[in-house]
Amino acid sequence: QLSKRLERVADYLPSDSCFADIGSDHAYLPCYVCLNDSEAKAIAGEVNVGPYESALSEVRNQNLEDRIEVRLGDGLEVLEPGEVRQVVIAGMGGSLIKNILDRGKEKLKNVDRIIVQPNIGAKFLREWFIEQKYQLTKEEILEENGHTYEILIAQPGDPLVCYQKDIFSKQLLFGPHLLKERPEVFRQKWKEEYAKRQRVLTQINKSKEPHLEKMNEVRTEMEWIEEVLAI
Ligand code: SAM
Repeated sequence: QLSKRLERVADYLPSDSCFADIGSDHAYLPCYVCLNDSEAKAIAGEVNVGPYESALSEVRNQNLEDRIEVRLGDGLEVLEPGEVRQVVIAGMGGSLIKNILDRGKEKLKNVDRIIVQPNIGAKFLREWFIEQKYQLTKEEILEENGHTYEILIAQPGDPLVCYQKDIFSKQLLFGPHLLKERPEVFRQKWKEEYAKRQRVLTQINKSKEPHLEKMNEVRTEMEWIEEVLAI
């Protein structure tokens, strides 16, 4: 049984997908996709030997060796340019995902869809998509086993179409699409984020030399959260 989180990620792959799942761990995502779509093909990339071996055995157990290739290597290094049309990176922090994408930029030339699922720090990915001229076409937020996850989908295109100048910084933090839709899970997440920031403020206030800049940044974000949740 695939997690709801990875099921949702899989929903954003087109049929006949030819994709890379970087940091694939057990290769559950590519196996699920290929079992449900006889035309799909995938490359599962893993940097660590343990997960790489788990991926190999899962693919073998599912008899999918002809359609899923498991490769050992760091990030997008496992890919040849033009080999895949979609890239998935899920279940890591936003800054790590950003780093993997950034170090492998030249492998993304023929990729027309990037699906990322950061556990935290989605903002870093929104920033990277803008810098690298990807349009954020969709965002989703979901809750599973007490955790909140965001899924971001991007494709080459005008990166600023979903942003507005006057609320740009807010949109980077909350997500332009999620900010518009504000589903219940989103509200729940930002209630918790508000409480986290309250704790950070308390810590800063307790320190001998309070970091004023950090304090202002946290306060500003708390004001934004108040605004967003009040509506
Ligand atoms: N993608 C799966 C998911 O969403 O359930 C697994 C997530 S697991 C928490 C993160 C995996 O990414 C680990 O198996 C880890 O070895 C792998 N990983 C971390 N950094 C990586 C990198 N630079 N290149 C490839 N894999 C990486």
